[in-house]
Amino acid sequence: MTVHDLFRLDGRVAVITGGSRGLGLEIAHGLGEAGARVVVTARRNEWLGPAEAELRAAGIEASAFACDVSDEDAVRQLAATVQERFGPADILVNAAGISWGAPSLEMPAERWRAVLDVNATGSFLCAQAFGRQMAASAGGAIVNVASVAGLIGQAPEMMDAVGYTASKGAVIAMTRDLAAKWARHGIRVNAVAPGFFPTRMTRGIIEQAEAHLNAVCPMNRIGRPGELMGVVLFLASDAASFVTGQVLAVDGGATAW
Ligand code: NAP
Repeated sequence: MTVHDLFRLDGRVAVITGGSRGLGLEIAHGLGEAGARVVVTARRNEWLGPAEAELRAAGIEASAFACDVSDEDAVRQLAATVQERFGPADILVNAAGISWGAPSLEMPAERWRAVLDVNATGSFLCAQAFGRQMAASAGGAIVNVASVAGLIGQAPEMMDAVGYTASKGAVIAMTRDLAAKWARHGIRVNAVAPGFFPTRMTRGIIEQAEAHLNAVCPMNRIGRPGELMGVVLFLASDAASFVTGQVLAVDGGATAW
C-alpha cells in the first residue's frame, strides 16, 4: 500500500450532515474526490438540490436526502434509506450546525435548547444511527465538526453565542467518550475544531470583527475555502487508522497561544 492509497476512499459510503453548503459541502467534495460515494443531508431542499448537482458535476457519485438531525425518527429513516440504497455507512461527518447570538445574560432558554438540540443531540443521534450500521459491518470512521469555541472561551465582542460554545464542548466530550466505547466495534471517532471560516453562519461575525479575529490568530487571518476538507479526509481515511478520540484544531494556531 502506498501513502496515496491510505487516503483513498474508493467505494466507501460517506454520509455528511449539513452537506448542502459551507464547510459540509466542502467536505463532501473532498471525500467524494477521494473516491467515496457521498450522501449529503440538510433540512432544506433549497440548498440540497444545488449541492447534489454541484457534486455530480464534479464527477462525484452523490445523493441528497432531506433530514433534520434533531428529529430522531427522521435520522432513523435516513439511516434506513442509506443502508437500503448503498449499504452500511463507512464514514459519517457530523457537520450540521446552527448558532444563536445574544448576550449571555439575556440568552433565551429556548434558543439555547434549539442549538443544543441540533449541534449536540443531532450529532449524537446520527452517530448512534450510523454507528449501529458500522458496528454490525466492517466498522467505520466518524468525524464530528466541533469548533474552537468548544475548546476555549470567546470574548463577547468576538462571539456572543454561549449555547453554541456549550454545544461544541459537548460534541468534543462525546467524541472522546464514543471513541473509548466504540473502538471495540472498529469505529474511530474524532473531531475537527475549526477556527473562523467564511460561510453563511459566520458572515455577520466576520463582517463585524474580522480585524479582531485576525489579531487573535498567529497566522493573522481566518480560514480559507479548501483548508478543512483535507484534514477531515485524513481523519476519515486509513491514514488515521490508529487515531481515535482526538480533536484537531484547524485554526491557524488560535488555540496554541
Ligand atoms: P452553514 O453554511 O450555515 O451550514 C450549516 C449546514 O447545516 C447547512 O447545510 C444547513 O442546512 C445544515 N443544518 C442546519 N440545521 C440542521 C438540522 N437541524 N438538520 C440538518 N441539517 C441542518 O454553516 P457552516 O459554517 O458551513 O457550518 C458547518 C459546521 O461547521 C457547523 O457544525 C458549524 O458549527 C461548524 N463550524 C463552522 C465554523 C465557521 O467558521 N464557519 C467554525 C467552526 C465550526 P439547512 O439549514 O438547510 O438545514
